[in-house]
Amino acid sequence: MNLIDSHCHLDVAEFAEDLPQVLSRARQLGVSGFIVPAISASGWPRLADLAALHPGFHPAYGLHPMFLAEHTDADLEALPSWVSRPECVAVGECGLDFFVSDLDPERQESILIAHIRLAVATGKPLIIHARRATERVIQLLRRHGPAKGVIHSYSGSLEQARRLIGMDFMLGIGGPITYPRSSRIREIVKDVPLSHLLLETDAPDQPMAGEQGRRNEPAKLVRVAEAMAEIRGLSLTEVAAETRLNAQRLFGLAA
Ligand SMILES: [Zn+2]
Repeated sequence: MNLIDSHCHLDVAEFAEDLPQVLSRARQLGVSGFIVPAISASGWPRLADLAALHPGFHPAYGLHPMFLAEHTDADLEALPSWVSRPECVAVGECGLDFFVSDLDPERQESILIAHIRLAVATGKPLIIHARRATERVIQLLRRHGPAKGVIHSYSGSLEQARRLIGMDFMLGIGGPITYPRSSRIREIVKDVPLSHLLLETDAPDQPMAGEQGRRNEPAKLVRVAEAMAEIRGLSLTEVAAETRLNAQRLFGLAA
């Protein structure tokens, strides 16, 4: 088995002490690719260094909406040259967060639009964070796209999922599907085409069922794959193979 964690924040302080061990635990369980989206411009150089050091480590460069206060106009001006670097597999993490109340929605939107335009210009996919904001993200993608990409930790409705898939967007699926009571996302995972699902841990956040309060890590991706296999009535091998192909296709990774 060979899985790709399509969303993990391996560059954050939680992994500073033991990243090599975290990566080797993941590889032992068959997780060999790691898409690591940036949070803010101050983290871009470290992501590039980590990508040069660790096989299977693929960075994305962008400005995360939850860290709006850190982002400057100079960061936005610097972003295109970072996104065109060869190790960069995507534009992000970017998006809209209308759940956290002190984040100016207009500034969030203008920054997201800049990311969408950059994705259109470079052909690289978007990694989008959409919390209480799926409908607005769809509108902005329609207005400023067409771009390809993934809505990570998908939390919209089934109907919105179908529209996103109609725009050839992927849905990032993680720990929430391991909770038996997460019936809405489990229904979506059952219903939409497997060709548009990606596996993710969102490590160090979003722990699996039974592991609340603990640091999440890419080795746990196997539990997401197992839950998806169970929900869809497929074998783990089938889910692993197809979601890996999906990630390779979206991020342009070698087979
Ligand atoms: Zn994230």
